[in-house]
Amino acid sequence: MQKEIDGENTLINGGSENFIKALEEKSEAYVGTDMYNSMFEELTRCYIRQKTEKTDEEIKNEVIDRFKTQCIKDEKNELYEKLSKEAEEYTHTDQFQLDMQDAKYMLEMEGETIPSDFQMTDRLKEIYIAQKRREVFCEENGHSWRETNPDPENGTSDLDCECCGEHHSLQWL
Ligand SMILES: [Zn+2]
Repeated sequence: MQKEIDGENTLINGGSENFIKALEEKSEAYVGTDMYNSMFEELTRCYIRQKTEKTDEEIKNEVIDRFKTQCIKDEKNELYEKLSKEAEEYTHTDQFQLDMQDAKYMLEMEGETIPSDFQMTDRLKEIYIAQKRREVFCEENGHSWRETNPDPENGTSDLDCECCGEHHSLQWL
């Protein structure tokens, strides 16, 4: 079962095949560039200073790993920026007003103090971004379906995604 994992390795551990393939191609093209060469030399000097013995192959792999990590970070930042912009636009919609009312109502029911509108807006934006990230993750990796409410009489059950919350009604064959 795939779940969203926070951290840099999300895309490597649970990433889409296309992304990994593109990253491999990018890494291959990176070998031999000036950037690659200077990183290779820097690491080599570093290991000599530390008196650590490393083969050229090991250093090469390390340089490539660092490059991949950077690519993944860039990709994540890009996604975060895009979603932040969307979240800002969301705050100007009617849906946002409704969500705000609901969130306040829930807090009231739980006997919690209601934060300022400013804080509530921030909180709702965070929730929005987290939800969108889960949707993007599912889009790339497929949903993590869980079947509930089996109804043998009518031959139906519900499918809910444990990651993004998407819902389907299933009609058995
Ligand atoms: Zn999903």
